[in-house]
Amino acid sequence: MRLLFLGPPGAGKGTQAERVADELGLAHISTGAMFRQHVADETELGRKVQEIMAAGDLVPDDVTIAMLHERIAQPDAGNGFILDGFPRTLPQAKSLDVELGQDGLDAVIVLEVPEEELVRRLLSRGRADDTEEAVRNRLSVYEDDTAPLIEFYGDRGIVRTVAGVGGIAEITERILQRLGA
Ligand code: AMP
Repeated sequence: MRLLFLGPPGAGKGTQAERVADELGLAHISTGAMFRQHVADETELGRKVQEIMAAGDLVPDDVTIAMLHERIAQPDAGNGFILDGFPRTLPQAKSLDVELGQDGLDAVIVLEVPEEELVRRLLSRGRADDTEEAVRNRLSVYEDDTAPLIEFYGDRGIVRTVAGVGGIAEITERILQRLGA
């Protein structure tokens, strides 16, 4: 099974993608986590993306697409995967179509959380890019660049909307139910 988790920053994509991946035996692929690892390891890529991430901006498509494509070519991804945080732009979504084919994704889970709850969660998380200014920027980048993907995939009939509020386990259950898993 190949899934994509979409939703604004703070919606709980990372947490839920990890839990659902565990439950279903899928690889959890988070481009944000991959970039954070590069920053921590002080690689050349890490140095390139550090400031972009701290500001809450998007890493350029070419860099992100190359990294993601290398990742999904790894053997563990052959058993299915959950994409968490990719694609975030239309060009990224189109590159994924080229890689997987137009029917390459089985479902897109969209986590919905009210904006005031998102801001509350993000500001209490303490990540390097969770300053108030970066948070505001990430929310607006999401609206401008990423939210249009809901319609892009909606046209294919694979979008499953899930309320991202309540207990963590409860939300996981909701997602599994929507997947019929
Ligand atoms: P995340 O952990 O998904 O919230 O990602 C953290 C940060 O990594 C984002 O704010 C971006 O700066 C960068 N990032 C992660 N995924 C992407 C992507 N698909 N395209 C561009 N930038 C990304």
